[in-house]
Amino acid sequence: MQSWFTLELNGSPWRLRGLAVNTSLLHALKQRGQMGALVRTDGDQGGVLVMMRDEDRQGRAVFRSIDAGRVPLLSLSGREVWTREGLQKAFPHHPLWALTEDYSYVETHPVRLDNLLMLLFEYSHLSEQQRGSCFADSFISRTADYVGVRKMFAEVSEWQGLSEVEGCGDLADLQYVDEQKNRFFRPSTIVDLFELKRQSQSAKVLAGGMDWQYGGQIELPMAEVFLSPEGIGELRVLTREESHWEIGAALSLTEILDTLGGEYPSLGKVLQHYSTGPVRNRATLGGQLSSDLGRTDLAPVLLALDARVRLVSEGGARDLTLDRFYGKEGERTLRANEIIKSVSLPRNTEQMFRVRDCDTRLCDSYKVAARRVACQSMITAAFAVELDEQRRVLRAVFAYGSLKKSRPLLAVKAAAALKGRVWDQQAVVAVLRDLDEEVALLAGLEAKDDRRVWVSTLLQKFCHQHPQGQKANAELDLDQLGDEGEDKMDQVFASE
Ligand SMILES: Cc1cc2nc3c(=O)[nH]c(=O)nc-3n(C[C@H](O)[C@H](O)[C@H](O)COP(=O)(O)OP(=O)(O)OC[C@H]3O[C@@H](n4cnc5c(N)ncnc54)[C@H](O)[C@@H]3O)c2cc1C
Repeated sequence: MQSWFTLELNGSPWRLRGLAVNTSLLHALKQRGQMGALVRTDGDQGGVLVMMRDEDRQGRAVFRSIDAGRVPLLSLSGREVWTREGLQKAFPHHPLWALTEDYSYVETHPVRLDNLLMLLFEYSHLSEQQRGSCFADSFISRTADYVGVRKMFAEVSEWQGLSEVEGCGDLADLQYVDEQKNRFFRPSTIVDLFELKRQSQSAKVLAGGMDWQYGGQIELPMAEVFLSPEGIGELRVLTREESHWEIGAALSLTEILDTLGGEYPSLGKVLQHYSTGPVRNRATLGGQLSSDLGRTDLAPVLLALDARVRLVSEGGARDLTLDRFYGKEGERTLRANEIIKSVSLPRNTEQMFRVRDCDTRLCDSYKVAARRVACQSMITAAFAVELDEQRRVLRAVFAYGSLKKSRPLLAVKAAAALKGRVWDQQAVVAVLRDLDEEVALLAGLEAKDDRRVWVSTLLQKFCHQHPQGQKANAELDLDQLGDEGEDKMDQVFASE
């Protein structure tokens, strides 16, 4: 057991001793005089961004922006962290600094300007595929000129990433104890994690740490024993099998978006609109599924994609459908001695289509919120429909999120009512009343609740956008296709 740990700050080793296990990175940076005392910690207002060097799935170096106020310092042990000043000193010839002078009017608030520079730096080193369509939305400010911000992102998109920087490699084991005898472990195998769990009943798995509510305080909530899954390779797999993808629970949402956003456009769409880049860079799949914040934007689309969850304990493993995993109201399916190991997503292969006698499959996801990003959703929905050659519905999934705190909802009866009907607006309209009543009952929505309108409207939108499906291994997603997609839709309507 050690009472010290190290990380690298701005290219120099930073040795820390005796720090409480719940200290956030921001707190430690302030104590070191690296950040002004007034920087705000409110993540919903953009937070305080710093850069962490990481490695993508191909082993290439990437810089990931993270919110210093939300990251437990110990989880960065052995990693490399950069502030804006540090980056500017280390990379003085980076074109970003000259660009900032050209666009000096876009943001006058010093902390938010630094946040913007961090996001631009991160963006400039991503591959074209990783950049995504709404990265600029990760910048949150009430004082910025957003037209200028978008122009800056457009200029940066022309740049090439840093080829001389290496990835960061594996994270080493960590066993740390603070002065109050609270401990932080980062084991490298699941067996070690369970051993530690057995030794301390109150041990708490701490993945991205995004769920910790700390109401503006700088220190994160305390636990006697924190267990970080970040160094466990088995929880970080992302493997493609013939029939499905296996997605490790400790993977960040960014890593999932980078690899699977193309094969599952409906999942990619949810992830692109999931909070901001810095939140996605730390929040994990396991954390999202076990979150008790009631925000489960991912759950509806995972239900529509027929995801299964693998739970493991020392006694063995069990596979559950996501619906079973969420269980009944007030029921906790995840036992105290279990953790989420992975989620598997079936692939839309020719064979899967043959087994289900299915000709085409449609799937899409929707989020209704006051803002495009960084805003709690009023309602989320994901739909999947499988059709035979005559475009008759063989199977449908209608999933909704954010209507109930504890779990997403499946409108099973309304979906079953669609079975056998030809997929068109008429068929959808015929089930809307049942859908509305079923969801209102499941979610306990009152007659006047505005969200009831969305329950029906989103299904109609799905049908309108997807009158025809795609064959095996592709989902049609108009949002991703952009203008080209809208043109295609016009052609589809014209030809009908
Ligand atoms: C600023 C901000 C914006 C957000 N925006 C959104 C949003 O747009 N949409 C949305 O849906 N959510 C949002 N959230 C919620 C948040 O992203 C999720 O709750 C997040 O996925 C939690 O993941 P984590 O890895 O940080 O989990 P942690 O906070 O580390 O853990 C959450 C819970 O899961 C448990 N846990 C973690 N991993 C495992 C595992 N493998 N097995 C068993 N238990 C485990 C932990 O013990 C803890 O109880 C937001 C949160 C913040 C702070």
